[in-house]
Amino acid sequence: MAYEPIWMNDPSKLNKFEFVKMEKDGLDVIRTIIEEYSQKGYSSIPEDDMNRFKWAGVYEQKPRDGHFMMRIRINSGIMTSEQARMLASIGRDYGRDLIDVTTRQAIQYHWLKVENLPDIFKRLEQVGLYSYEACGDCPRTIVGNPLAGIDKNELMDTTAIVSEVNDFFLMNRDFSNLPRKYKMSISANIYNNANAEINDLAFVPATKVIDGQEVIGFHFFVGGGLSAKPHLAKPIDMFVRPEEVLKVAIGVTTIFRDYGYREKRHQARLKYLVADWGPEKFKEKLVEIIGDMPSRGEDKTAGWQAAYFDGVHPQKQDGLNYIGLNVPVGRTNSNEFEQLADIADKYGDGTIRTTMSQNIIIAGVPDDKVEEALQAPVFNRLSPNPKHFMSRTVSCTGNEFCNLAIVETKEFARVVAQYLDENVELDEKIRIHFIGCPNACGQKHIADIGLQGSLVKTPEGMVDAYDIAVGGILGPDAKFNTALKGRVKSSDVGSVLKQLIEFYKEQRSSGESFHAF
Ligand code: SF4
Repeated sequence: MAYEPIWMNDPSKLNKFEFVKMEKDGLDVIRTIIEEYSQKGYSSIPEDDMNRFKWAGVYEQKPRDGHFMMRIRINSGIMTSEQARMLASIGRDYGRDLIDVTTRQAIQYHWLKVENLPDIFKRLEQVGLYSYEACGDCPRTIVGNPLAGIDKNELMDTTAIVSEVNDFFLMNRDFSNLPRKYKMSISANIYNNANAEINDLAFVPATKVIDGQEVIGFHFFVGGGLSAKPHLAKPIDMFVRPEEVLKVAIGVTTIFRDYGYREKRHQARLKYLVADWGPEKFKEKLVEIIGDMPSRGEDKTAGWQAAYFDGVHPQKQDGLNYIGLNVPVGRTNSNEFEQLADIADKYGDGTIRTTMSQNIIIAGVPDDKVEEALQAPVFNRLSPNPKHFMSRTVSCTGNEFCNLAIVETKEFARVVAQYLDENVELDEKIRIHFIGCPNACGQKHIADIGLQGSLVKTPEGMVDAYDIAVGGILGPDAKFNTALKGRVKSSDVGSVLKQLIEFYKEQRSSGESFHAF
């Protein structure tokens, strides 16, 4: 090991899983999968290695009968048509055609078998994609601006910076054993396209006058995260030049690795250390590691567009456009993915981009090709002009596949959105997020209306139900939503949301939006 793991000095402060990680690094499971488990089969996998599968980006799917889900890292959500075709082929050959877009711009498969994994790893690698460390206690997919390089509202193209940080951390054994999962975002978009405040480490656009010259760079926040106890990330008083982003990321990740809590897993995220230390102490420790940096300059975040891009929009390159498509509740399939790859090649710049709202963008379409491109049959379902509620509905995986889920979410969310589109007229788009348990993969806390799955006792027994919270927002006025009293049976959710939205419609004052209501 290249560094001194100082947390090993006091084993009484370590939870059980820390010993699993010390005994064998999570990354080592990738070789064991390839050389052993893929040949001997599901029943040969011992429990500790099953837990380490996350470092390969793989989890057991529900029910535990030998099927797995896998996440693929897509930096800033930007992939080539060649990569998209490979993703489609893997979905077709091994994943029953299903392809989900996650709230961290990743691609997620289901139905995989351990025997399939070596070929999937190989095929991904052929096109420069990886599932490694998409899950596990390590630096995960780096989210960012899906419009990087084509965005009128970005201070700079962050593609190269995201690649540099990704390449440094991916499979880096100095950072493959962190106390818990670790999520980074890097974006220079002024509308917070990467949902900065809910990341462990988030770089956001900023400028500062240094030696009489305005420098474009970043501010950064640390200690954000959702789950049962959500925290908004806190700003650190430093200005970061573009070429210093990696240095800061290494410093912050080193603090988490060496000082993050390893005693109780549910208190191991960076957010707990940041809450205890406060930003000043955190900065002092960071300066010890990376040296001093200039203090903050001018923050350039102007608002939050919640990573929604439906419709046709001009790019920063004259004469070119991007088309934002709705992927209902983030679920698509191999066939649609291939059609998108063909459209990207025929009409666009050959890229396909995933968003944190579980949607997709086709980029680089010339003005005179837009109308023709929009005729593609795949846009009938993946629409650039989606219905109001369907366009703003997000859902986690839920108990169709997730072992932690209390309720089914994806199909339920789709049905509720469809019901609202058929029964409620509104001149505004309200963001509705569904999650199947407190882990909050569907980012319930930042929704206008967040629904968290639970159970409720009825005369007929326990039935699926949802807790409802309202008013979440990120950006300069960031706040998590507030829980409403009571729990609503699943069968009543559609009508309760209808009443809630109609009450808002009647009571709102002019210009008031849902989160401010
Ligand atoms: Fe599973 Fe819970 Fe995450 Fe939904 S929020 S995918 S139910 S862990």
